Amino acid sequence: MRIYKVGGAVRDRLLGKPVTDIDWVVVGATTEEMLAKGYRPVGADFPVFLHPKSGEEYALARTERKSGRGYGGFTFHASPEVTLEEDLIRRDLTINAMAEDDQQNLTDPYHGQRDLEARILRHVSPAFAEDPLRVLRVARFAARYCGMGFTVAPETLELMRQLSQSGELQALTAERSWKEISRALMEDQPQVFIEVLRECGALKVLMPEVDALFGVPQPEAHHPEIDTGVHTLSVLEQAALHKQPLTVRWACLLHDLGKGLTPEEEWPRHIAHEHTGLKLIKAVNERFKAPKDCQELALLVGQYHTHGHRALELKPSTLLELLQSFDVYRRPQRFEEFIAACEMDARGRKGLEQRSYPQADYLRGAAIAARSVAVQPLLEKGFKGPELGEAIKRERLKTLKAYKEAASA
Ligand code: ATP
Ligand code: MG
Repeated sequence: MRIYKVGGAVRDRLLGKPVTDIDWVVVGATTEEMLAKGYRPVGADFPVFLHPKSGEEYALARTERKSGRGYGGFTFHASPEVTLEEDLIRRDLTINAMAEDDQQNLTDPYHGQRDLEARILRHVSPAFAEDPLRVLRVARFAARYCGMGFTVAPETLELMRQLSQSGELQALTAERSWKEISRALMEDQPQVFIEVLRECGALKVLMPEVDALFGVPQPEAHHPEIDTGVHTLSVLEQAALHKQPLTVRWACLLHDLGKGLTPEEEWPRHIAHEHTGLKLIKAVNERFKAPKDCQELALLVGQYHTHGHRALELKPSTLLELLQSFDVYRRPQRFEEFIAACEMDARGRKGLEQRSYPQADYLRGAAIAARSVAVQPLLEKGFKGPELGEAIKRERLKTLKAYKEAASA
């Protein structure tokens, strides 16, 4: 049996990037031999094993054939006769289809190294079209490597276009899609992921609600970039620049979906878009089965981001309602993420990226003030049940009034 490093580990070493996880391919071995050597099998239908000590993935060289729709519609063939070249040809991109032995001898039948040097993301073979997830993967790699000058090869983009039109993208499971989306959003330039998806028509299929934002104008006075889609990409870009977590990035992507529903005769204004967008945000959340914290924050940011921007003008009672909506007393971190998303929204405007956002500290201060109201003295005064709740609310309101006065003094 011969063992090779493959995929990302080879690619990233050649790019001079840190290698985090290593994938291995094993040629000339059987499942029985692997088990005998102590490797632990991973899946029932996949000839993939975990190394007994390192825990890294070792896959038997295999060929694949498409036999139906979706990922379930794949048949695998792994046997000791499958060659390294046969295994590599089923991979997505040429730069991911190189292998290396323990002497660092490169096997590169599909010219991955040439494409690495030319900074091109190119599919390995027409079989690329057999797994629609590759559309998302290419967009994700574009987001990761565009800073190094990588672009998608025109012929690969054309294949991605055909895949997007074929209806195959709809066959992807929520789990597989979300894994790619969430990883892509955490890249340095997540906006490029969305741009590439849009260019090949996949965005229209996967997230028509986001796609619809392009071409929708906003008032130039507040949004010098005018276009809502362009704005959304800038917000995402800012979120990455400011190292925001996934929850915030997801909320940034979805915060303005309501603007895609505004009747054209109302353009460039978008009255109540915060409210109209909620059902769209919910639909996208559920389509990809986003984790609960991502879903929640996206909905809250969608509903309240304008409140965030107007924080300094809000009446104390409205401020209190905002804090209650976030349950800031038990979930202070979630409110922090809301503030971050609002700030990214404000910075994601052409020419205003560096403008300070005093609303952030103001909102933080308001949360601290409201949280400082002690319950014990009210209990001692004999309040209980709903009356206690009312009394706490009154105290918090008083505190917020004082806070607002002090802040504007
Ligand atoms: P990352 O740095 O994101 O881990 P990677 O290239 O190592 O990038 P993995 O998802 O770990 O990506 O997959 C390892 C290798 O397996 C890839 O380099 C590629 O050769 C192949 N691969 C993974 N998923 C697919 C797919 N859906 N279609 C074709 N090839 C794939
Ligand atoms: Mg990998």
